[in-house]
Amino acid sequence: MDTQLSAAQVWTWLNDVPDPEIPVISVVDLGIVRGVQVTGDSACTVTITPTYSGCPAMQVIADAVTSALKERGVQQVELLTQLSPAWTTDWMSESGKAKLKGYGIAPPAQQVIDISALRAGGLAAGVKRHAIAAPKVACPHCGSGHTELTSQFGSTPCKALYKCLDCREPFDYFKCH
Ligand SMILES: [Zn+2]
Repeated sequence: MDTQLSAAQVWTWLNDVPDPEIPVISVVDLGIVRGVQVTGDSACTVTITPTYSGCPAMQVIADAVTSALKERGVQQVELLTQLSPAWTTDWMSESGKAKLKGYGIAPPAQQVIDISALRAGGLAAGVKRHAIAAPKVACPHCGSGHTELTSQFGSTPCKALYKCLDCREPFDYFKCH
């Protein structure tokens, strides 16, 4: 390489690495790249937090990150997996959420759990489970909030399948974890 490797350069390259499941957004948009450390003239360490443990795409993502950097001439790429703090959909960039929507996938909604209802219900674990299982999701096609969960599992385990009750279009929803 002609110039010394910088962390900013590595971030730029990683911004071109698509998510294997949703190719319109990059691994940086997704918020799973937590850190880049340059450890030598042509060596770096990339810290990744999986969207959830057991996500089948993680190995694919790890390989894609490594090969993208090697293709750019980085000789040593070390990947670290950081499980804590756990990835949350808040780490997804606003542009990432906008791209998801443009792709016809509803971006993750903020999980609104009514704490006072939970407390009032005492052992209302069912309420909590319901709140997590079926968040209010807006249709990415027409914007209607009048949608229903069709299946917990969409085209991949990270997505759920929804249907819009207004425009009748089915769509994938990127699940919160
Ligand atoms: Zn709709």
